[in-house]
Amino acid sequence: MSVIYDRVALIGLGLIASSMFWAMKRGGLAKEVVGYARSAETRDTAREIGLCDRVCDSIAETVEGADLIVLCVPVGVMADVAAEMAPHLKTGATVTDVGSVKVDVIQKVGPHLPEGVHFVPAHPLAGTEHSGPRSGFAELFDNRWLLIVPVAGSDRAAVGRLRDLWEAMGANVDEMDAEHHDLVVAVTSHAPHLIAYTMVGVADDLRRVTDSEVIKYSAGGFRDFTRIAASDPTMWRDVFLTNKEATLEVLGRFTEELFALQRAIRQGDGEHLHAYFTRTRAIRRGIIEAGQDTDAPDFGRSGRKS
Ligand code: NAP
Repeated sequence: MSVIYDRVALIGLGLIASSMFWAMKRGGLAKEVVGYARSAETRDTAREIGLCDRVCDSIAETVEGADLIVLCVPVGVMADVAAEMAPHLKTGATVTDVGSVKVDVIQKVGPHLPEGVHFVPAHPLAGTEHSGPRSGFAELFDNRWLLIVPVAGSDRAAVGRLRDLWEAMGANVDEMDAEHHDLVVAVTSHAPHLIAYTMVGVADDLRRVTDSEVIKYSAGGFRDFTRIAASDPTMWRDVFLTNKEATLEVLGRFTEELFALQRAIRQGDGEHLHAYFTRTRAIRRGIIEAGQDTDAPDFGRSGRKS
């Protein structure tokens, strides 16, 4: 594969940034990748494990001369990072991000970027419950979706080049507008995470079930809830604070459906329950047919890294 950007700057060195770095290395997609994280501890770890060709101690130094700058920090701090880096950006550079929310990031980052710098927001629909500089791996984006969310007047050449990069990192790329993106991920990711957090919290609160029983007998659905509920608290706090409306809309619908199922159970309405579960089973089949998961028993857990 060939070089797509001469110099790429990664701001934030966690799961997504480190996976991007290893995927770019795998494909030889950048001549140099420069990285920065807030804490000296993370920067030291990155140097120790060879994460990035160069790790800098300031945002200004990291973005200097970069052709592509990728914001890989929690959504809540994107604006601060954008403000700090703005005076140091090269004319003609592209700024992108990997944030899980798009309307808020576009509103808060866009105004900081100077004339002559292209802004092309994006979101990889791939992740694990692990975080930090050691958690990344080159295959994270293979056959996963990457949504590009262009802003008004996004330069088509800049969009095309970013698309090339993500495709070369293994992803399938689609474009979507920001409002629609936020609603889609509220359904597919944000609300499910909140439900998992709640379920694990409820199990913890149920004093009738001892800790050991919850853990010992968790092979059923509960174990998957605990995996999701182990996701990074800062990232997920920021997701809910910034994708407020779409998440609340989906949770409102969820609550209504939950009440309907609750009533069916109370009234012994087996027909309602069976019809509902038949419909949801078909959705699972659709996800497998689309190649977005494996139908191996136990979610193919033993063969997968995440
Ligand atoms: P992560 O593993 O928790 O890493 C976050 C990184 O951001 C850390 O290196 C942290 O530095 C750095 N950071 C935090 N505040 C900073 C600041 N003010 N200035 C500079 N660096 C700062 O996070 P992640 O999972 O890679 O997520 C990064 C972004 O990707 C988030 O916006 C998230 O919404 C999005 N995303 C995540 C997933 C997922 O499943 N995890 C999937 C898709 C998109 P320190 O280590 O020094 O604290």
